[in-house]
Amino acid sequence: MKTSAASLRKKAAQIRLLLLDVDGVLTDGRIIVDDRGVESKHFHVRDGQGIALLKRSGIEVGWITGRSSKVVHHRAKDLGLTLLFQGVQDKLYVYDRIKKKLHLTDAEIAYVGDDIIDLPVLRRVGLAVMVGDGSAELQVVADYVTAAPGGKGAVREVSELILKAQNKWLGLLAG
Ligand SMILES: [Mg+2]
Repeated sequence: MKTSAASLRKKAAQIRLLLLDVDGVLTDGRIIVDDRGVESKHFHVRDGQGIALLKRSGIEVGWITGRSSKVVHHRAKDLGLTLLFQGVQDKLYVYDRIKKKLHLTDAEIAYVGDDIIDLPVLRRVGLAVMVGDGSAELQVVADYVTAAPGGKGAVREVSELILKAQNKWLGLLAG
């Protein structure tokens, strides 16, 4: 981790949009395919709660994934996400489009990734996060490495980091 705790908090305090890779970040990276070719994945309920808390606090959340599946569509719909981009080969291109559409700056965007396809976006965002079990290649650009591995609460950890830096966490606990 190259970023000090104070600097990390400062970066997290500015975030207005959290962008997430799906496979290996919201899931443990395993893709289960049945004999009809239908995919299933495991999502973690606390990651979903973290996303809901961010949205309730006025922080946007979006998913950008290189793959495309119905299960991801359904989970995103479950969570009320409107920013879902599947089958994306050039994540930086989509990143720039979202940034422009929402009138945001790089400093206001956080991204969580687990593999080298995520590097171009991680190099650009204000808060670059890799999951604990992500590819070692990401360590050079990551401001923060989650203690949790992908699919096991990593997104919840980042959600709390952002909400605490913005002094919104305790208010959410109070309900
Ligand atoms: Mg991934």
